[in-house]
Amino acid sequence: MFKKIVLFLSVVSLGFGYDLKPIQISKSVYQFIGKTEAPSQENGGNMVNSYWIKTDKSYIVVDTGPSYNYAKDAHKAMKKIADLPIKYVFNTHMHDDHWLGNNYFKELGATIYATQAQAKKFPLGSEAHMLSVIKKEDSVNTKIINVDKLVGKDFSMKVDNISLDIIRLNFAAHTPEDIMVYLPEEKTLITGDLLFSQRITSIRDGGVEGGLKSLDAIEKLDVQVYGIGHGTFTDKTALKQMRSYFMALKTTARKAIESGIDINTYVKTADFSAFKNMAMMEILHKSNLGFAYSEYEFFEEK
Ligand SMILES: [Zn+2]
Repeated sequence: MFKKIVLFLSVVSLGFGYDLKPIQISKSVYQFIGKTEAPSQENGGNMVNSYWIKTDKSYIVVDTGPSYNYAKDAHKAMKKIADLPIKYVFNTHMHDDHWLGNNYFKELGATIYATQAQAKKFPLGSEAHMLSVIKKEDSVNTKIINVDKLVGKDFSMKVDNISLDIIRLNFAAHTPEDIMVYLPEEKTLITGDLLFSQRITSIRDGGVEGGLKSLDAIEKLDVQVYGIGHGTFTDKTALKQMRSYFMALKTTARKAIESGIDINTYVKTADFSAFKNMAMMEILHKSNLGFAYSEYEFFEEK
């Protein structure tokens, strides 16, 4: 009896993996949705979306999630749809919830594309914050590996029957360098963290103006399905939510600066009650206010 209980407890504490379920969002694109919360022991870093593009002969993976085991679980789920080789992996930006599954795909022979900013910030032997947050059984086997190909500018590629446009923003938006993957034939755009829904973004590594400019760039494309970085919506909801949060940061920060209100008072008093139901407000909003104020202190409208 005692033995049975011990066995049961050890199975529970080991967890049952990520239990990932793909959702088909367009003809060839599948999405794994993470929670709209911060990474934790409980969620194992599964608080990010990742994407698989299925061609007639292979897969292209856009963002590989928070760990080796996450990538492996996603692959297991995709094999049930079709067991195809994985040719290419794209990392949309340098934040580690989006690419720590890379070494799983490298083992399978995939070519990894990412930004120079990511390669610079995470050379071999560097450490990722994510791995200090999640449980050992979730992070096991996860290793930082080199990027194979740096994306320095836009390019197009045909992979089997699918045409892809790789769009590399030439200004800092969510991070110093952000990549989007566009499928013109399916009017589907995988945006990484240029778009979020149901939760606020972090402007720590980018800015409000760059963020707004990225939304303008997205709106110039013919898109029906948005593959966003965090949140569940695939329609224009994320675009609207991002713009209204960025615009609120911009207008309140500029007004405070013009009125001679100092940064600390602004951070304490800025009224963002309209956003109170958005996730991650408690964790990210105050620092976003500080970054926004600093950005607009010396800002000149072009
Ligand atoms: Zn990010």
